[in-house]
Amino acid sequence: MSIVSDRHSSDVYELVKDHIANLSQTPKFTPEQQQAYKDKIKALLVEHNAVLVAHYYTDPVVQALAEETGGCVSDSLEMARFGRDHDADTLIVAGVKFMGETAKILTPEKRVLMPTLEATCSLDLGCPADEFAEFCDQHPDRTVVVYANTSAAVKARADWVVTSSIALDVVDYLDSRGEKIIWAPDKHLGGYVAEQTGADIILWDSACIVHEEFKAKGIEDLKALYPDAAVLVHPESPKSVVALADVVGSTSQLINAAKTLPNKQCIVATDQGIFYKMQQMAPDKELYIAPTAGSGATCRSCANCPWMAMNELESLSKVFERDDNEIFVDPELGKQAMKPLQRMLDFAKVAG
Ligand code: SF4
Repeated sequence: MSIVSDRHSSDVYELVKDHIANLSQTPKFTPEQQQAYKDKIKALLVEHNAVLVAHYYTDPVVQALAEETGGCVSDSLEMARFGRDHDADTLIVAGVKFMGETAKILTPEKRVLMPTLEATCSLDLGCPADEFAEFCDQHPDRTVVVYANTSAAVKARADWVVTSSIALDVVDYLDSRGEKIIWAPDKHLGGYVAEQTGADIILWDSACIVHEEFKAKGIEDLKALYPDAAVLVHPESPKSVVALADVVGSTSQLINAAKTLPNKQCIVATDQGIFYKMQQMAPDKELYIAPTAGSGATCRSCANCPWMAMNELESLSKVFERDDNEIFVDPELGKQAMKPLQRMLDFAKVAG
């Protein structure tokens, strides 16, 4: 395994810091205001035959609203699948932009709206389509595997799209066929997959600004306080953090681990938005967020994605009023991006 792209995480961090500096702060609402927003959004969903699909990392109030209105709370792939199979005309995607794009690629006939299209992802930002295409062109003998956290244009250049829940299985399969791989964009997840499978992988150099903040030392200190706690880690985290894990897995896999492990306490290294669903599924467990770097962190707050946080009630209540928040994907590009996505969906069906 080697990192050969010439794009460095530090370049992306500068981009990300600029972007975050320009974000407006999320307003705080009284319970009455919050209820008024929720009532308005509920009425709008009915009026427009729309459904709200929310990611595990969004604000708990948004996740609860998705559940109360018959929508779903899940990972990015399940969000897209749910939207595709639901009979609503319009999908309201509370997440980040690539999730809206994936929903549109899977369901081009539906209208896909987001609270704001400014909600992006450092992995998506860190993998511009033109630079990535150039990188792939330099290695024509390699199968191109990209993570779901990429733009439609990057997906269109790929042979396979994977989520963190299926990455190991897909790469293992490709390796068994003797295929050499390009992996993008997350170097930590890619490094983990390379180590676990032994596949010949070259990595694009990008990272998640939230997961990269987790520090092994902080987790060790917390573990000293709660020695019986299980450590649950998302593989977008650095290798030193993954090394401390009792369970490494996707958001859904970590939720399942919290539910099924015998440990009464869990230290969790992923965005703390996941605690809403994790606590719901494992009500008897004590959950602790893994420590982050603290000062100097690029996140607005520790272990909390600044872009996921943009999905708040006020912007959701205006989702039908704006004219700059609909997801469009060029139909030809969408068809191209659908091929590696469909390959993953078909693989998932066979793999069970
Ligand atoms: S948590 Fe990380 S991977 Fe997820 S959307 Fe935010 S920046 Fe991207």
